[in-house]
Amino acid sequence: MKKRIIVGLAALSAILVGVVIYTIAGIERATTKLERLVALHQVEILRERLLIELNSVQSDLYLKNTRYARSIDTVVAHVRTMNRVSDGCLGCHHVDSVRRKLEGLRDRVHEYENSLSRVLTLRGNRARLEAEEDGAYRIGSRLASELDDITTMTSARLGEQTRAAYGDIDRTTKLLYVLLGITPFFATGLAIVLVRGVTRPIATLVSATRRLESGDLGHRIEGMRGEYGKVAASFNEMARSLEESWRKMQWAEQILVLGELAGGLAHEINNPLAGIKASMEALSGSPSLTGEPREIIVEVIRQIERIELLVKGLLDFAKPPAPRFLSVNVNDVVDGTLSLARKHPRFVPRDSSRIEVAKDFAADLPRIMADPLQLQQVLLNLLLNAADAMPEGGTITARTSREDGTRYIRVTIADTGTGVAEAVMGKIFLPFFTTKTKGTGLGLATTKRLVEQHGGRIGVANRPTGGAEFSVILPVSPEGTLLEAGAGAGEP
Ligand code: ADP
Repeated sequence: MKKRIIVGLAALSAILVGVVIYTIAGIERATTKLERLVALHQVEILRERLLIELNSVQSDLYLKNTRYARSIDTVVAHVRTMNRVSDGCLGCHHVDSVRRKLEGLRDRVHEYENSLSRVLTLRGNRARLEAEEDGAYRIGSRLASELDDITTMTSARLGEQTRAAYGDIDRTTKLLYVLLGITPFFATGLAIVLVRGVTRPIATLVSATRRLESGDLGHRIEGMRGEYGKVAASFNEMARSLEESWRKMQWAEQILVLGELAGGLAHEINNPLAGIKASMEALSGSPSLTGEPREIIVEVIRQIERIELLVKGLLDFAKPPAPRFLSVNVNDVVDGTLSLARKHPRFVPRDSSRIEVAKDFAADLPRIMADPLQLQQVLLNLLLNAADAMPEGGTITARTSREDGTRYIRVTIADTGTGVAEAVMGKIFLPFFTTKTKGTGLGLATTKRLVEQHGGRIGVANRPTGGAEFSVILPVSPEGTLLEAGAGAGEP
């Protein structure tokens, strides 16, 4: 934006300077043309004056020796004026061709003057005087006709030049008016564009802030570039971390409420349930109970055991025991859990379905501080879910590796099952979310809590070749917690 404002102002200044230069040049051109015209008109006036003086002298010559003849002084005065005028013509600046013409004219005036002085000074010789008078008159007439010719020729050209000069001045004036008329509009338009360029992004930022304020934490600013783009990127980053913190807070609040609820429920349910179960077991042991009534009692006991399991799961999730940290070898814990899982009914081959287990353990894993039982619970949950996702059988791969040098270790449980549907990817760690008919939806929620109690995080991704892959990242020591470092993939 800064660049755009500078370019805009530079363009505006350049336009204004251009208009001013053009205006000054227009005025200069018009002034030069007018000066030339004035000079030409002055020459014209001088020529007219020369003709008038010449005609006066010619009439003096004509009236000589009559009773209308003027005094010799008047004639001399006219001749002198003629001389002055013709010299004056030469005084102006002229191009060479004009100057040559004017010099010829002045020579002719001098010739006329000489002839006249002879006429005025000759006495006695009448014949010679008459001859001189005729000669002077002829020179005067020729001079007059030359001046006449020049005047006729030049006045036509002068008229043409005057019209052209007025045309030029008119055009320049119109153009200047147009420029002066356009410039304010152009400047205003440019100013509007620049001001909009500044205010529009600010309005977008303000409205985005308001949306954030009103609780729309998912709102992001798109399509901004330059300096505002950087501000928008910072805003988006702030909104993202705000959204994440809010989700974490919500999650923590949910867990807190659930913990209290589960504690209360467990207390209220477990005691009467234990009594009912004991009575039912006693009843089922009675030899007098046979047939259908006995089957009903056995089913009741089975259902009570399901409720017990659910209550236990709820308690495990809501109020998991604090971990008892010991130095453990993760490879050993994973190996032990795999052996345990293999004995679970879900791993027992049914029909043609068979679950293969593959191990890919890193040899140089550092020991970590963890609760081995809780770690086992986490892994068992993931393994049983993997088995559930492969009703037709498949392969589960358990992998361990180092993460970020020696600070963290990663345990991956990958399967070749159905994979997690994209639509539920963000929900599977939420308590009570399940897609199974007999599921409780507490397995992954509890797993996540246990991992977080170890300062680690858990994430999920679908494998390109099919199936899901759950990753658990754990710090080598509990101080290197990952929780503050941000959410993992698949976190609610
Ligand atoms: P439950 O097993 O009782 O359904 P969980 O919290 O363990 O509860 O799992 C929640 C949901 O996550 C499951 O219902 C299932 O849809 C999905 N899920 C978990 N593990 C896998 C897996 N390995 N492959 C595909 N989906 C899975």
